[in-house]
Amino acid sequence: LSPVPSDIEISRAQSPKAVDVLAKEIGLLTDEIEIYGQTKAKVRLSLLERLKDQPDGKYVLVAGITPTPLGEGKSTVTIGLVQALTAHLNINSFACLRQPSQGPTFGVKGGAAGGGYAQVIPMEEFNLHLTGDIHAITAANNLLAAAVDARILHENTQSDKALYNRLVPVVNGVRGFSAIQLARLRRLGINKTDPGTLTEEEISKFARLDIDPSTITWQRVVDTNDRFLRKITVGQANTEKGFVRQVYILSKFSDVGRGLMEIRFPPEFLSIFRVRVREEGVTGALAVLMKDAIKPTLMQTLEGTPVFVHAGPFANIAHGNSSVLADKIALKLVGEKGFVVTEAGFGADIGMEKFFNIKCRASGLVPSVVVLVATVRALKMHGGGPNVTAGAPLKKEYTEENLQLVADGCCNLQKQIQITQLFGVPVVVALNVFKTDSPAEVDLVCEIAKQSGAFDAVPCNHWSAGGRGAVKLAQAVEKAANQKNSFKYLYDLELPIVEKIRIIAQKVYGAQDIELSPAAQSQVDRYTRQGFGNLPICMAKTHLSLSHQPERKGVPTGFVLPISDVRASIGAGFIYPLVGTVADSWNGAREGMRKPLHFRKEYSPNVIS
Ligand code: ADP
Repeated sequence: LSPVPSDIEISRAQSPKAVDVLAKEIGLLTDEIEIYGQTKAKVRLSLLERLKDQPDGKYVLVAGITPTPLGEGKSTVTIGLVQALTAHLNINSFACLRQPSQGPTFGVKGGAAGGGYAQVIPMEEFNLHLTGDIHAITAANNLLAAAVDARILHENTQSDKALYNRLVPVVNGVRGFSAIQLARLRRLGINKTDPGTLTEEEISKFARLDIDPSTITWQRVVDTNDRFLRKITVGQANTEKGFVRQVYILSKFSDVGRGLMEIRFPPEFLSIFRVRVREEGVTGALAVLMKDAIKPTLMQTLEGTPVFVHAGPFANIAHGNSSVLADKIALKLVGEKGFVVTEAGFGADIGMEKFFNIKCRASGLVPSVVVLVATVRALKMHGGGPNVTAGAPLKKEYTEENLQLVADGCCNLQKQIQITQLFGVPVVVALNVFKTDSPAEVDLVCEIAKQSGAFDAVPCNHWSAGGRGAVKLAQAVEKAANQKNSFKYLYDLELPIVEKIRIIAQKVYGAQDIELSPAAQSQVDRYTRQGFGNLPICMAKTHLSLSHQPERKGVPTGFVLPISDVRASIGAGFIYPLVGTVADSWNGAREGMRKPLHFRKEYSPNVIS
């Protein structure tokens, strides 16, 4: 339709096919899916076993230029591309996406289902609740938080013997250790298996964790941006006997990705599902709470092609990629000639770098093509176009032809192409066309992209025309996938932590060098001493600039990257250096980042633009 209706109107106007029909179409067996209503189904992991001898399809990553408040449309391109491949070129394809958390969905960022005629439907289901994975994770996380506080209370108010009796279960009238408890005994150097034979000293050693409340970093979480819960005091009821302490609640769900886990999930399941909980004895309960969250959720695009939604870490402190499990299952399902398209958060310098160096390293999967998304409007901002003010009409620089601004801003595109080439993967530039772009501007971007080493560069109209508008992109991606691919990681894991950070800073961001604060240096020394020096690096940096300064657009040069702190997510398997005052820049950047507020805007009447 012209003008293109709002995202929600388009989503609601389309009737999705029943998910069991979709499942059959893509070759799933009846007992391999668990249906949630009409339009969503969990997919069982047994599929991986059944399809293990099937060759993998081609693996495509959608990344972008440095984001601006004007938006680039990576999710929209991802969906447009699979709609073009499957619905228009008859090539099997799958999109694998992250599940958005409620904070960003109700906030500045909005939903993440794509937009226009390139969307996952039903979009409300996609953006809110889905199949409850995030709730399962909050439940598991908060169970552990509650267990830690309860443990401190009990250890401080009960005798060793009472604690011991409480901990060691009685089965059929006989007290016996569980397998986890036996392992703990061995770790404590107590080589006994009969609970009746422990000395008083051993009982005390076994029964007490002696957690110092001031050292607890495990936080409660809630998937709502509830700012008044950010810092609260717990334990104020009389029954808690004065064990009052102040705690922080993580309400931006992506942050949960930092801490966690050592449960026995498949090692390739990166991100939020790993907790060091064995000592707490609640591992089994946590695993049961998350038994369904480990399965990807099947949905569909507007044109009825399959989509997996699974896991949802942000690309700031976490790595910003959907789950490896979903990618692996999808790669088998599409078959050798098919395509799996997934998306990396933020610009290629952040999301793509982490996709290659962290996610691909963990999964062993080799990407075939990178699709780099750019828009004329965003490039104009990189070329020196004025800042945009929330709610104000766009300035004429963005609505009228201005070839000079476009040409100047293409330096950012060029740099992101060069970054992609560091990894040896062919890159296709997808220019996501807005109705204000002039044909000369579109041609100019594509020309510069090709001159800068892109395998191809094509304008895409999927937002206004659906998969039909991305057929040229799909054809270019298919060709690029047959090119020579010399994929390589950017750094060797065995290099010292500081050296790995320096390589990312210099080669990817274009920094002259890095500068570690004394705190950062001592953390590096500590992690190295502890044997974590060989983990990959997950930089926590503003996404609004290649540098650490969000206001520096284009391709900043001559800067030294300040590393203010270094932390580790041992469970998730990476070290994360904090670049500059990343928290401040993140908050400051929000002001300038007011993208259209999908929900609020779209639920009000007559907003067709
Ligand atoms: P990203 O993945 O880069 O954050 P999205 O794909 O989620 O971006 O798109 C952000 C918003 O921009 C969506 O509401 C989408 O409808 C809108 N959008 C994307 N491409 C276009 C376009 N070509 N014309 C108009 N609006 C667009």
